[in-house]
Amino acid sequence: MNITSFNPPRRILMGPGPSDISPQVLQAQSRPIVGHLDPLFVGMMDEIKFLLQYAFQTSNPHTFAVSAPGSAGMETCFVNLVEPEDKVIVCINGVFGQRMLENVERCGGEAVVVEDSWGEPVSISKVEKALEQHPDAKVLAFVHAETSTGVASDAQALCALAKQHHCLSIVDAVTSLGGIPLKVDEWGIDAIYSGSQKCLSCVPGLSPVSFSQAAIDKLTKRKTKVQSWFLDQSLVMGYWSGEQKRSYHHTAPVTALYALHEALLSLYNEGLEVSWQRHADFHQQLTQGLSELGLELMVDESCRLPQLNLVAVPEGVDEAALRARLLNDYNLEIGAGLGQFAGKAWRIGLMGYAARQENVTLCLAALNDVLKS
Ligand SMILES: *Cc1c(COP(=O)(O)O)cnc(C)c1O
Repeated sequence: MNITSFNPPRRILMGPGPSDISPQVLQAQSRPIVGHLDPLFVGMMDEIKFLLQYAFQTSNPHTFAVSAPGSAGMETCFVNLVEPEDKVIVCINGVFGQRMLENVERCGGEAVVVEDSWGEPVSISKVEKALEQHPDAKVLAFVHAETSTGVASDAQALCALAKQHHCLSIVDAVTSLGGIPLKVDEWGIDAIYSGSQKCLSCVPGLSPVSFSQAAIDKLTKRKTKVQSWFLDQSLVMGYWSGEQKRSYHHTAPVTALYALHEALLSLYNEGLEVSWQRHADFHQQLTQGLSELGLELMVDESCRLPQLNLVAVPEGVDEAALRARLLNDYNLEIGAGLGQFAGKAWRIGLMGYAARQENVTLCLAALNDVLKS
């Protein structure tokens, strides 16, 4: 077999993630390797923690990045905070809520499902009713930004309800972090996870996580061991905590963390509010341009995610063929519809570094060309 080095073309990524990565972040990843317990590296991990606290708007000391993708962040929250027989209210309005349910069941928890249609946000009144009907519920879990549909749910209202009913909240912020307002402390979120490759525009494979004191208390009072050794936060805490007692738990993905440091630094320098506004502005511009092409967004304006746009495929257009042409002729990737939107919608992402003028211009021009021909 004649194998040569892999040299991918420069694609423009406007799908559901991974998103475009800035040259600075890509370069950061190719800097010299150091040991993962090297004092310089430990200092950088402390800075990542500080930058993540900023991104999440939290002072939670237990804020760090799991050495694995967003799905492992999800798993981290559930395996640590759901004990066998714990009742968990799980909100499902797309693919990722469904995965939360899988997690609850695999932890031996008793799931109470609150279901909403794909394309709709989580219903506050349904969740309130479920909390009233199940006063013994321990956890409320929901997805802030459903990437499968492009819908934002009201995380602030949902977490307030959880608190009122003495439940911990587990929030999926994989697509929301950096793209839309998210305030962990102000909203009283107990456990939250995200991903490096969506609006943070970093390489895939890392999952920022933060636990409140209440979440840590639930973990320390567990009657049973966390079933996952790798994700057990009582063990990981020693690895990510500063106070000179850093001890070996697993080998951190050293160079991927360089990239995360750089990506978070860029968000910090830009400022969260500015980043949220940038996503909103380019979403506005994209929406306007799409409507001029006769294309419509499928999600109601009141709950649309700026960073993930669900676009209806017009009658008579072969959606997969159009995506293939964008990829082959324009090096532009957009996403396909999932589940009940498969074949009926595209998902156009404006995540992180992808939310910029040249991307919106290219995307609209390319769609125009391809739809006309
Ligand atoms: C992408 C995504 C995940 C999973 O993240 P991976 O990094 O692919 O494991 C979970 N939840 C949501 C909302 C996502 O968009």
